[in-house]
Order: sequence, then C-alpha cells, then structure tokens
Amino acid sequence: MLTIGAFARASRLSPKALRLYDELGLVRPAVVDSVSGYRYYRPEQLERARLVAWLRRLGMPLARIKVICELDDHQAAQEVAGYWRRVEAETRARGKLAAFLIDYLPGREVDMSPLTVRYAVLSDRGQVRSSNQDAAYAGSHLFAVADGFGCESDARPASVVAIDALKRADATVPAGDLLNVLEDAANGASRAIHEMADCRKEVGTTLTALLWSGSHLPLVHVGDSRAYLLRDGRLFQISHDHTHVQAMIEEGRLTPEEATSHPQHALLLRAITGHPAPEFDLDLHRAEAGDRYLLCSDGLHTTVTPQDLREVMATATDPAVAVRELVDHANRKGGPDNIACVVADLHAA
Ligand code: MG
Repeated sequence: MLTIGAFARASRLSPKALRLYDELGLVRPAVVDSVSGYRYYRPEQLERARLVAWLRRLGMPLARIKVICELDDHQAAQEVAGYWRRVEAETRARGKLAAFLIDYLPGREVDMSPLTVRYAVLSDRGQVRSSNQDAAYAGSHLFAVADGFGCESDARPASVVAIDALKRADATVPAGDLLNVLEDAANGASRAIHEMADCRKEVGTTLTALLWSGSHLPLVHVGDSRAYLLRDGRLFQISHDHTHVQAMIEEGRLTPEEATSHPQHALLLRAITGHPAPEFDLDLHRAEAGDRYLLCSDGLHTTVTPQDLREVMATATDPAVAVRELVDHANRKGGPDNIACVVADLHAA
C-alpha cells in the first residue's frame, strides 16, 4: 500500500487533488484508516490516477473525466478525440475573435478615412445549364454572391432565398456592430434555407458577402464562391474554399494544378443546407482607397484563368466594365456553369 504522499508523487497529482478526487469518486483510496483518517492506495490504482492527471492536463472538466474513466480503452480514445475536436473548433473561433480585435482596436478611434463605393453586379446562366441557380447582389453597403444547388429549375433558387434574407444587413452599421450584424444576417439566411429545405434535403447554397462601412469591411463566407481583393496591382484571394480538394491540397495530397481537373473539385465540405447552421468564416478587412473587390461563384473562378482574372480586375475602367468582361471571359471558355459576380471599387470621398 502507498501513502497519499507516495501515491501523489508517483501519479503527479497533488495530495489536495487526490482528496478532491476521492470526494468526487474519481480515484478512491483502497483503505482509509478509521482512526487517523489517512488514505492508502494500491499500486495498481496508479494507472487510473495517471489517466486522470493526463486528462486534467488537456483541460478536461472533472465530470467528463469521470465518464471516460468508466469506458473501455477504445471508447475512451474516441471520447478524447471528440473532446479535442471541440477544443480545436472553439480555439479556432477564439482565434478569429482575437484577429478581429488586433485589427479593430488600433483603428477604433480614427476611422476617419471617408470612402465612397462604386459597384456593379452581373449573373449569367452560362452556355450549358438550363437555369441560373447563382445569385448576386450589390447595394449601398452589402455585396454578396451565392451559388445554389438542388432546386428544380422552375423553383426559387436557394441562392436567391439566402441573399434575400441577407439583404436586411444592407444599411449603415456602426463599426463596432459590423461583424455581429453580418453574422446575424448570415444566420438568418441559414434559417431561410432550413425552412425551404424541410422536405428537400439536398437543397443548399454557398454564400460569400462583404458588408462595407467606413473603412471596415467584414467578410462572411461558406462554400466555394470566392472573394478577391485587387490592391496595388496584385490580386489576393481573401476567402478560403470549403471544398474537398482544398482540404486535400492542405494535407499535401494534391497540388493546386491537379485540383482543377480533379473529378470531385466541386464537392463542398461546408455550405448552407437544410441541416443545422453551418460554420461560417467571419473575418474583418480594412479597406483602403483604390481597393477593388470581386465576389464570384465557381462558374467564374474555375473557368477563367487566374491570369485573365487579374488582367480584367487590373485594367477594367469601372466595375460595370469589369463584371461584363469577366462573364464574357467565362462564356468564351464554354460557360460550363452559372456565373455570378460583383465588383466594388472604393474611392477616397
Ligand atoms: Mg457553380
């Protein structure tokens, strides 16, 4: 038998923690001296105590540790994996909030760069599809594209339903509220799809939208439509594709060149569907005078080469010319998919 001090040293748990775990029924001593109250442990109890210590090091709550201690090894491993996936998801969400604050706080008091916006929007059926399930919207503050799927050709596309719900955010919003307003609007779009998809499980849409106010420009995004920024003559993709092939590229199993011709290049990992609310990417960008933004569905960015995309974005004299040229480019390449795009220029007021 080991005294509580010896058992604590061997298990890397403090005597105080061991007394607490005794009360909670996590690690009970084998014997408690009825006179002195001293606790004694058997050596074979060390394995369980060490497991408790490791799980504590992961930050796992005691109640969950207690459940895991009662499982067989296989189930326990699955439970730890599930717990860790959730920790990672929560950490990612907190990371986004931290990134937002790092960007937002220094400019909070000095958002005095008045910008004005010029924009154009165009959506086209393309050369192959019988109907257009893409939708695009541009208003005084909101720019959005959506690529719907699963609706009959005579029904209202999911993309239109989502953007109609999102439009409520198209208003002047104080900078501090921008992200919340855009996230609420995206959740509203998700609810609208959930309602329409009730009996048609495969209905859904991508959604990529920017809400502009002052020099702040939050982006909400889910799916494989994209947002680009042209700044100082360079074109940057500022959204992240939620596709099977993008995940394979990140895992090093596919090159970006191979991805374009991959049979599953359009398979989405995330989208707004009839299922519970999707995980949106939410980022804040700071706009500068001279910026040109492009939102587009995959019917554009998978059809037109990156060189042509940059060329049009860099040379078109205004947004209306840009969207027309982009759609024409896609149609000249066969227009295999619907096309939706928004171009917005920010100018010094
Ligand atoms: Mg498409």
